[in-house]
Amino acid sequence: MLGAADIRRLAAELDVRPTKTLGQNFVIDGNTIRRIVATADVVPGETVLEVGPGLGSLTLGLLDAAGHVVAVEIDPKLAARLEQTASEWRPDAAGRLDVVLADALQVTELPKAPDALVANLPYNVAVPVVLHLLEHFPSLRHGLVMVQDEVADRLAAKPGSKIYGVPSVKAAWYGSMRKAGVIGMNVFWPAPKIASGLVEFTRGEPPVTRAPRREVFAVIDAAFAQRRKTLRAALAGWAGSAARAEEALRQANVDPSARGEVLDIAAFARIAEFNHPLVG
Ligand code: SAM
Repeated sequence: MLGAADIRRLAAELDVRPTKTLGQNFVIDGNTIRRIVATADVVPGETVLEVGPGLGSLTLGLLDAAGHVVAVEIDPKLAARLEQTASEWRPDAAGRLDVVLADALQVTELPKAPDALVANLPYNVAVPVVLHLLEHFPSLRHGLVMVQDEVADRLAAKPGSKIYGVPSVKAAWYGSMRKAGVIGMNVFWPAPKIASGLVEFTRGEPPVTRAPRREVFAVIDAAFAQRRKTLRAALAGWAGSAARAEEALRQANVDPSARGEVLDIAAFARIAEFNHPLVG
């Protein structure tokens, strides 16, 4: 495991000055790495996708548990050093690590199909990264990500809760999310100002619907863009008018005077079918 001194030495050697823009907060605590790897439940034959390996703390832990690690890093200095770090600390990692220099939000191909996503995510893009990867890599069956604690709560929120919103419903399209713990600030260098949370993910089937995913997501965006409005009003733009929105909601068996925060993903999928009527 890389300790605090190793991380600082590596950062100095590479002249890395952690930036907020790239969410660069590196884990300096071996127990936290062990906890993430154990909670992620990675098994030896699996290929793990790690986004943002940084200086390699979590990568080394993952190489202990997984068969193969594919690490996607946007910072060229960090990506360039990772293989050397792995071979110094884990001589048995040879041939089991692929480093991909890329923006995780753009990546649509990887050298190996990943089974699991395990990452300490850059916080400002955590939700779009999770949704992008789940959409483009259907081989991802499970995962564990570390995100801002508040974002962890949002991802795992259920209908009816105050914090249930766009991330919660869109994530539910791909499976189930469960909060798996809180991590304090002092395990990072530099220390962030807020706590982090762990979220566990298990792939599930999306609801059966005639509507394509994009249409379902458009309904979700519209419903939560004006959170305090009734669905009849919030979906008027999407449906073409308040009257058409009311009709879409009635057809989907949803009360037009309800608000988006009470609907589960299946209800959003039924509403989206309004724009994709049965033919014949
Ligand atoms: N995994 C390391 C650790 O736990 O110590 C570093 C985690 S740090 C919170 C986030 C990492 O993601 C940084 O290495 C950063 O350069 C990288 N990163 C930021 N934006 C990214 C993006 N869009 N695609 C891929 N990597 C990104």
